[in-house]
Amino acid sequence: MAHDQAADAAGKLVIRNIGLMLSGALEQPILDADAIVAVDGRIVGVGRLKDLDTQGATTVVDANGAALAPGLIDSHVHPVAGDWTPRQSQLNWIDSSMHGGVTTMISAGEVHTPGRARDIVGLKALAISAQRMYANFHPGGVKLHAGAPVIEHGMEESDFAELASAGVRLLGEIGLGGVKDGPTGRRMVEWARKYGIQSTIHTGGPSIPGSGLIDKDVVLECDADVVGHINGGHTALPDDQIRCICEGCKRGLELVHNGNERSALYTLRTAREMNELHRVILGTDGPAGSGVQPLGILRMVSMLSSLGDVPAEIAFCFATGNTARMRNLDCGLIEVGRTADFVLMDKAQHSPANSLLESVRLGDLPGVGMVVIDGRVTAGRSRNTPPATRIPEIVAR
Ligand SMILES: [Zn+2]
Repeated sequence: MAHDQAADAAGKLVIRNIGLMLSGALEQPILDADAIVAVDGRIVGVGRLKDLDTQGATTVVDANGAALAPGLIDSHVHPVAGDWTPRQSQLNWIDSSMHGGVTTMISAGEVHTPGRARDIVGLKALAISAQRMYANFHPGGVKLHAGAPVIEHGMEESDFAELASAGVRLLGEIGLGGVKDGPTGRRMVEWARKYGIQSTIHTGGPSIPGSGLIDKDVVLECDADVVGHINGGHTALPDDQIRCICEGCKRGLELVHNGNERSALYTLRTAREMNELHRVILGTDGPAGSGVQPLGILRMVSMLSSLGDVPAEIAFCFATGNTARMRNLDCGLIEVGRTADFVLMDKAQHSPANSLLESVRLGDLPGVGMVVIDGRVTAGRSRNTPPATRIPEIVAR
């Protein structure tokens, strides 16, 4: 299901009886609040129901004690067109991810496009086209920031200026195209940054035939804004190189589902030792050779919390507020003025845990009971997660 943003305003949404409010912010991951109000897709009030202005609500949701968190952000996807991926010949992978709580996605390059152009005018055209397509089309309501050109030798500063003026805000993973060396990568990252285009670099061994090895020296020299899949995509660098990258820069440390899980845990421990958990963000790196993971972000949260000894409310920040801050998004945090993108969850039925957070700490996946994007309910009980114990319901509309 796609929805047309311009069709109608979202109206006033009130969600009450929230059992646990996760903020997405590392500095205060749990809020003392049981209700939230949004008008036309923006949060206007968070707190106790009795203290909020709920007059004139057009939609009222009773959370029935379920938890509310900011909608999850997948920092690393590879879209092609619409809700189709040729990588595994699948349809509706974006809508399916929305049922896994994902409300925003970031393209790391439209690299699976059949016959992808590698000449400079062609790669620019592809990026501009992808940016437009996903600005205009939101499968399942998901906001996909796309149009991420894969840089090639021969590009000049004027190409980056042209891309930026055409609305391109991202670079595809450096290393997936012809540029795999530090000096060229750094020059182009600096041009991109000058024009407001954010950059990501592929890290580790080749992901599919045609991509190449990017080691710590190239990563540190290029100095991209995000160290893309520092846990490999799928082949990770040796631990000593991962540590060098963590210590040698202040950039984002992206952990992906389609990477090496042991290396993800090593990176997490390193970032924690450095007291720099704010640098950790999550992605799936799907669609990929290893498939599409509609629950990939939830699986990362659960894996990092249970095996990495991180409180679940902190692990949720890696998939929400951390990514939003690093990527300058207006979602990802529960605070007035932010976009009303929410996922409502509870512990899955028959989890041995006593609460959602404890269930994640035990390595279980949460059950998603409702998803809200731009102040609109886009899904009730998820068709993909295990069933949640308590399910929110729309009580007035
Ligand atoms: Zn990659």
